[in-house]
Amino acid sequence: MKTFQDIVNLKDKKVLLRVDFDVPVSDRGKIEESFRIRKQKETLDYLIGHGSKVIMVAHISDQSVDQSFAALIPQLHILLGYEVNFIKSVDEIEQYLQNYSGPALLENIRQFKGETENTKELASSLSKGFDIYVYNAFAVCHRHHTSVSAITKFLPSYAGLLIEEEVFKLQNTINVSKNGKFLIMGGAKASTKIPVIKNFLDKADKILIGGVIANDILKAKGQDVGDSIVDEKALELLAGLDLSNPQLMMPKDYNIFQNRILDIGQEAIKEFSEIIRNAKMIIWNGPMGMFENPQFAQGTEKNAQDISDSSAVKIVGGGDTVSAIDKIGLIGKFDFVSTGGGAMLAFLAGEKLPGL
Ligand code: ADP
Ligand code: MG
Repeated sequence: MKTFQDIVNLKDKKVLLRVDFDVPVSDRGKIEESFRIRKQKETLDYLIGHGSKVIMVAHISDQSVDQSFAALIPQLHILLGYEVNFIKSVDEIEQYLQNYSGPALLENIRQFKGETENTKELASSLSKGFDIYVYNAFAVCHRHHTSVSAITKFLPSYAGLLIEEEVFKLQNTINVSKNGKFLIMGGAKASTKIPVIKNFLDKADKILIGGVIANDILKAKGQDVGDSIVDEKALELLAGLDLSNPQLMMPKDYNIFQNRILDIGQEAIKEFSEIIRNAKMIIWNGPMGMFENPQFAQGTEKNAQDISDSSAVKIVGGGDTVSAIDKIGLIGKFDFVSTGGGAMLAFLAGEKLPGL
């Protein structure tokens, strides 16, 4: 991985910086969760501090701003500490670079034809006028998109500081000795979670299971899960995994309401607590239950509290997991909070990522 240390001189370099600003926005246009934006500041400060001319490229999927950055520019100014200019189209970038007047952000890159198809055409026009490309959007590492992948064929490419940090911290969770290392896996979307479970079976002491993933495993074992949510693809994805492996630790009991498993139960919380207390490293992704409803938030919140209280190295990722711990004010207790949901899981599953 080529990093900033490999760039001879950043002064006056025209830098295309791929950032991650895909944040949730309220109906009134207010950025609700700015964690990802704040995590971009270090790299931006570095580049600007070294005299580079920076144009940022990113995507946004929130519908309340019609998937456009236009209305968010003043808030970016406050969060990043720079006045950010707004560039409406790819064709206007070259002109802007010629009369550069401070850092700027291009409109949602996914509005331009070819971004999600990873095309040479868009990569070529996007690269015009730049000296180098810096990739700093860890959360889209797993995407074969133009501004992540094809662009690197047109510009000398470097990893930003956030990529270095994410890769270093996540690689470490794979490399450290499995003694005292526990993976806690909950949430939904079996296709992103089961590959991580498979990859960590021989890399962790135990894997603690909760959320819909627990339902999936119960069902695959032939147990009756009533009207609980299960992933249709789970059975297929679980193939090849020995479900009776004692390293896979299923909840002892569940919180069941109207014939649906909606959280882990009291005994499970107790048993997980005990493990967490004595752990050396905990890697957590996915809520233990339907935490959005306070009635079924106990498993997730108690889990978050137990991890916070433990002396283990604590690593967490996943959009819903991070917002759950943020809501109860525990985010600062974690040693590393990944900006990646799907990207973190793909990394932990050992997949080869186009962005890296
Ligand atoms: P993350 O974004 O942290 O990776 P996921 O997106 O995989 O997490 O899963 C979060 C969702 O899973 C939440 O909306 C939560 O309500 C849901 N969930 C977890 N456990 C259950 C359950 N037992 N039944 C229904 N939904 C659940
Ligand atoms: Mg999620």
